[in-house]
Amino acid sequence: MRNLFEKLYNKDAESFYNILKKNLKYNKKMFIVTANPETFMMSEKDKEMAELLLDKNTILVPDGIGIVKAARMINYDVKERITGIDIANELIELGDSLKKKIYFFGAKPEVIKSLNNVISEKYPNLKIVGSKDGYVKDKDKVFDEIAELEPDIILVAMGIPLQEKLIYKHLNKFKKGIFVGVGGSFDVISGHKKRAPKIFIKLNLEWLYRILKEPSRIKRFYDSNVKFLFKVRKLK
Ligand code: UDP
Repeated sequence: MRNLFEKLYNKDAESFYNILKKNLKYNKKMFIVTANPETFMMSEKDKEMAELLLDKNTILVPDGIGIVKAARMINYDVKERITGIDIANELIELGDSLKKKIYFFGAKPEVIKSLNNVISEKYPNLKIVGSKDGYVKDKDKVFDEIAELEPDIILVAMGIPLQEKLIYKHLNKFKKGIFVGVGGSFDVISGHKKRAPKIFIKLNLEWLYRILKEPSRIKRFYDSNVKFLFKVRKLK
């Protein structure tokens, strides 16, 4: 697991957004994984996950506060959280100002529908070249269609590890494009769900808000975070 900590992007979010801007402007291909303890834990048991996370072309950013704190515990100086939803919002804004093409893949059909409406109204210069909900059977086929459209930004919102595995599997079909797995971000950006209030985010308690809102998340949280802490303590 130590090699994943070593790989984490450790500067501030602003500098990361500058990299996004540059890569978007010059049509560079990029695959970003926003990591939380669950991601790191998965890599222990899931070979495919371990491979894609350690691939030299995969950019790993610290999404969850658990990752930031754990990294610091074992002396990796990680600056701050860079979340999937912030990256999604940043890419949408950058895409609009640079007049780029975007594809949305994931979430429920009604979410995708409102997402299209919200984004096309607010960002008229961003071209939505296509979108598909995340419950279609043949997801590989959708990726073939995406490749033909040559979008500049591809946001995949299906939760880990599905979104990352799908992107990784099809990445070599693309010459350009910024690819990110953004979890539940479409639910929030479309207005179907609310992100945690600012105070929760500021106090690094966004995870608590999500559990309070959706108590079924508690098992998932325990399984990844508590076990993760024990693992990290062993690395000390
Ligand atoms: N989802 C999907 N296809 C699936 C399973 C899930 O598109 O087969 C979507 C789901 O509708 C939700 C997102 O994936 O929008 C996962 O959200 P969650 O909040 O669980 O992800 P997290 O941010 O916790 O990784």
